[in-house]
Amino acid sequence: MEFVVLNSYSNYIDAHIIRGVLEEEGINCWLKDEHTVTIDPILTNAVGGIKIMVYKGQAERALDIITNLKKEQKLLISCPNCNSHNVELVSTPRKASNWISAIATFFLGDFAIAVDKVNHCFDCKHEFAPKGSD
Ligand SMILES: [Zn+2]
Repeated sequence: MEFVVLNSYSNYIDAHIIRGVLEEEGINCWLKDEHTVTIDPILTNAVGGIKIMVYKGQAERALDIITNLKKEQKLLISCPNCNSHNVELVSTPRKASNWISAIATFFLGDFAIAVDKVNHCFDCKHEFAPKGSD
């Protein structure tokens, strides 16, 4: 059987969620480089993240499933400023850019890693914290 790289993820939680969804849909898949990334996150960029591998014959369907999943997730989030659904979770450079992340990093250390991601509205440029990150 031939497998192809469907997508790559920088953290294993995202990768496992996607794998779970795909398996539920009957897609033959597995995670590559999972152990490298989990043991040493510094290597994540070096190896290109955790890759989700799918059986070549199912790749197109798997991509459809991921695309639909993204659409559904988008509909759950709306901008508090303009109510647009044109919002995406983006990574921000890891620095204490505001007092909330400074305090969170001080108390939680590495657990505050979620603070590094914000929802960015592409319509009004408003940025807001993802739900459940606190
Ligand atoms: Zn907006």
